[in-house]
Amino acid sequence: MKSPLPGVEGALAEMNIFFDVDETIQAYDGSLRPFVVEVFSQLRADGHRLYVWSGARTARSVRDGVVARHGLTPYVVDCFQKPIVNPRWAWSQTGIDVQPDLCVDDREETIAAFGGIIVAPYPYPGPDEEMKRVYKMVCAACH
Ligand SMILES: [Mg+2]
Repeated sequence: MKSPLPGVEGALAEMNIFFDVDETIQAYDGSLRPFVVEVFSQLRADGHRLYVWSGARTARSVRDGVVARHGLTPYVVDCFQKPIVNPRWAWSQTGIDVQPDLCVDDREETIAAFGGIIVAPYPYPGPDEEMKRVYKMVCAACH
């Protein structure tokens, strides 16, 4: 069956899923988007490998500042700086031996480059069920 997600093809039972930080899993006040912990936990249990990356200058502190602080460490394999300019080429130049199978990002350019799911931006804390939709879409891509 053809993948329902643009740019996401192939064997998808166990994917490398890359999550953006700002406005994707975290609001600008540093609070976590609703259902991120639940969805990370479930995706990990489903066999996927989760990564967190950020294009922000503070990306080096993503592990401490975002992943650890929000209790996501058990679910996240690694954290990276997200390439912004000519992203696929830039990623190939990093020497990092991990390829995103599916990205989750509020930024269309990242999804256009790597494939995945565009989420509604989450700039400020509030009620939100976007992560539940992400989980359903990942599951749909797997079957
Ligand atoms: Mg973002």
